[in-house]
Amino acid sequence: MPKINVLPKEISELIAAGEVVERPSSVIKELIENSIDAGAKTITVEIRNGGITYMRVTDDGCGIANSEVPLAFLRHATSKISSEKDLDFISTLGFRGEALAAVSSVAKVEMFTKTKAENFGTHYIIEGSCEVLYDEDGCSDGTTIIIRDLFFNTPARMKFLKKDTYEGNSVAAIVDRIAISHPEISFKFIRDNKTTLTTAGDGNLKNTVYSVMGREFANALISVDYELNGVKVNGLTCKPISCKPSRNYQLTFLNGRFVRSGTVMAAVEQAYKNSAMVGKYPGFVLNLTIPFDTVDVNVHPAKTEVRFSDERRIFEAVYPAIKNALSLGDTRPEIKISKPVFNQFERMNVEEYRQQILPSTEIKQTKNDFSVKTERINFNVAKSDNKSILVDKIELPDIPVKKAEVIEAKIKKENISEEQLEEILLIGEAFNTYVVVQKGNSIFMIDKHAAHERILYNSLKKNIKIGIQALLVPATVTLSMDEYNTLVSNIDLLNENDFEVEDFGNGSIIIRALPSSLVGVNINDLFSEIADKLSGSNVLSVDKLDRIYHTVACRSAIKAGNITSDLERLNLAKRVLSDDEIMYCPHGRPVAFEIKKSELERQFGRLQ
Ligand code: ADP
Ligand code: MG
Repeated sequence: MPKINVLPKEISELIAAGEVVERPSSVIKELIENSIDAGAKTITVEIRNGGITYMRVTDDGCGIANSEVPLAFLRHATSKISSEKDLDFISTLGFRGEALAAVSSVAKVEMFTKTKAENFGTHYIIEGSCEVLYDEDGCSDGTTIIIRDLFFNTPARMKFLKKDTYEGNSVAAIVDRIAISHPEISFKFIRDNKTTLTTAGDGNLKNTVYSVMGREFANALISVDYELNGVKVNGLTCKPISCKPSRNYQLTFLNGRFVRSGTVMAAVEQAYKNSAMVGKYPGFVLNLTIPFDTVDVNVHPAKTEVRFSDERRIFEAVYPAIKNALSLGDTRPEIKISKPVFNQFERMNVEEYRQQILPSTEIKQTKNDFSVKTERINFNVAKSDNKSILVDKIELPDIPVKKAEVIEAKIKKENISEEQLEEILLIGEAFNTYVVVQKGNSIFMIDKHAAHERILYNSLKKNIKIGIQALLVPATVTLSMDEYNTLVSNIDLLNENDFEVEDFGNGSIIIRALPSSLVGVNINDLFSEIADKLSGSNVLSVDKLDRIYHTVACRSAIKAGNITSDLERLNLAKRVLSDDEIMYCPHGRPVAFEIKKSELERQFGRLQ
């Protein structure tokens, strides 16, 4: 039987230290949080060798009174709570009174600190929990704490540290995060004698994000400001077009403290559904302010996952907060050509131009991409692959204007005023794909497939029926057994949504009618795609409907490369530019880009 020992204090302290002090970044986090709790307005963080040999945090906070300095380094010594009741109302970042004790047990710590009330400051040195110096000092108000040689007395833990660069990057990430959560504090970060971050501390979140994450990200952000049931949601979220390939730009702060919350992430991502590209994630900086007694912050100090006593209330506030922000703040993506093609000094005069450029240029009479083409695939009578004949109920004389009206009917023209119609000037279409129009002081390039797909999808979602098209001869579609089983179990759903489908047994289904916008599509392909989208036992029924809408919209929409008439182009542009909901296709690709006249003028050197 092994004997039970009560561990000596030094050993139990070392074990406790392991929980708080894992690596330089966890030390820096604790030190900065102490400075914030001390009411600092300016915080400087300096590290060398990834923090392993040297870390310094200097603040202009309240300082520690001379008589209390040694106490700060004792376990469970804290100025932040004094009774059990306080635990329910924790407003400071630290409260366990562990950090300084833990750090000083595994490193060499030096502190200079002075309160306003005292005429002199304190110089204190403690190494591996042993006090080395406790003296008066003429330092300025606030606190400087220097940590040298982390884990100097615990070589086993030293081995777990990674390369300096890795540790340094992880310190930098902590400083970034904390700086963003406190725009009212000015931060400076010095890494191996180089200043790598300074924030203004002017209280403006956007300025802080700009300093930390760079211009490109900061410029793509929309303000969020919302409150529901006592949950305040403030901050910034990115435009759907600027979503990132990873979740690294998702920062949530709870009452000023960085946290990870699955609920917040899910609520934000849900709000971007159908506007962010598949595989991309919104970047955001959100600060949640909620009453202190409704959140359980008593989680492991080194971890950031937070539990809410009412997760649903959080979701219900965050989701509309983001939805609102997106509907108010998202504008069409603008094309900015980063480098002007010519600048003033490169400009040639007419003579130079004739001599240098003209002789070497073969002037081709290229096909005019913007020419008007009125031919259109005859879509009122079309054959599907399995030889059924589809007959459109609408009789169409074969003249372009009438066809365009049908497209217009497809594209639903509600909301468009006469003035809006006149405002838009059709320039043409590039590559049979991008409709180009002029409106006000901008040119818009519209991806006709993406735009039409979004229009149809929105109509379907809003229950604006596209209409049913009966097939003259019903089509029999033979499917794989998986596809067949999926479709048969979803027949009701399909039949409620403008299809008429019947189970024919033995892997076949009969199609008697379709949404009329689908006339002319390959029926076999259509139903395999629908089966594929509906397969899987855990697809929710709302999602199923959404997937059917996606498929119908995508298959019905005008395709890139299809020939489109001028009137169709114009109608499409009118719809797109008069409806802010038509910003992205249902897969999240942008529908249109804007090029401002001023941008062109800048490019051509008309505007300096
Ligand atoms: P906690 O922050 O959980 O209270 P710490 O070990 O981090 O525990 O700090 C112990 C105490 O030392 C704090 O409660 C605070 O009173 C004091 N202290 C630490 N750092 C600072 C600082 N930068 N400025 C003023 N007081 C500080
Ligand atoms: Mg602390």
